[in-house]
Amino acid sequence: MKVLGIDTSCDDTAVAIYDSNEKKVLSNVVSSQYEAHRAYGGVVPEIAAREHLKNIDVIFREALEKANVDVSDIDLVAVTYTPGLLPALLVGLTFGKGVAFAGYIPFKGVHHIEAHMFSPFIKREPEFPFISLVVSGGHTMISVVRSLGNYKLLGKTLDDAIGEAFDKVAKMLDFGYPGGPAIDRIFRNYKENYLVLPKPQARGVNMSFSGLKTAVRRLIEDGYPKEMIAASFQKTAIDYVVGKLRKAVRETGIRRISVSGGVSANSYLRERLQELEDTERVKVFLPEIEFTSDNGAMVAYVGYLRFEKAERIGDPFTLNAYPSLPITGV
Ligand code: ATP
Ligand code: FE
Repeated sequence: MKVLGIDTSCDDTAVAIYDSNEKKVLSNVVSSQYEAHRAYGGVVPEIAAREHLKNIDVIFREALEKANVDVSDIDLVAVTYTPGLLPALLVGLTFGKGVAFAGYIPFKGVHHIEAHMFSPFIKREPEFPFISLVVSGGHTMISVVRSLGNYKLLGKTLDDAIGEAFDKVAKMLDFGYPGGPAIDRIFRNYKENYLVLPKPQARGVNMSFSGLKTAVRRLIEDGYPKEMIAASFQKTAIDYVVGKLRKAVRETGIRRISVSGGVSANSYLRERLQELEDTERVKVFLPEIEFTSDNGAMVAYVGYLRFEKAERIGDPFTLNAYPSLPITGV
């Protein structure tokens, strides 16, 4: 089955073609809008929607061309319908419905976070059960996944998402947007000592990141070198998350872990996960770097899984976009 996957939930216009028989991503095109939002210091929903509208047709054609696939070859259209910025989501959803309607192709709405959760398995079969850690721009959560659609939340952030904290810290330090890659780059080149930041307090497997932000602000005021602050922040935030993950493994006894979302590209996180594999005898599943941040391939893949689970019945064209829906409600 050839699946078209579309994601316009935030500031990336993403379109991919996935071949479920070959378990292959035939094309994965992402167009970012950093420039359009730079002057505003954050993503403006209406501007995001306008940029998506400008780009989506071009990105769609590019994805088809790169995959060497014609519209008439597409067997399923999968589109993110939640969560995200409503005006932005609507562009991709409406475009996807249009392609499906015009070509008599079944159509499936996809939950963006469920797509992140399964992104490590795009080129293989998921192995259940697994512990899922999603670390992205808007989410930080640990859950147990027993099958597609069977999720039990173990813990989540009580305030900021970890990616959001990376972005805010980078902004305070004038490192630009998105902040995660910038801080990670500095971390990799940093060879000095680390500052001790206060470990956030959150019970059990829950997490908190707003205190780290405050700690960083104080260190900036105290005049510590920017690189030292950035590297210390990354170390503290990642060690903290890995500690929570270790706790989840001990609590559940489940030894398979999937880590996904934009922050799963982080080099120090990947290093620590490797250590976890060696010391805790767990198996860690990570997405390839191109599938860590928002992309159409993960949407196509989960759309395909959902379509198969629904005995190949698509969603009605009346499906709407929603700024947020709980993942368990999918
Ligand atoms: P959500 O998926 O929760 O709706 P989103 O789609 O905006 O949010 P993603 O695209 O999954 O989030 O991830 C983007 C985030 O990942 C940004 O906050 C970015 O700074 C962060 N990020 C990307 N690369 C790295 C890295 N190497 N280290 C740390 N953070 C990173
Ligand atoms: Fe995302």
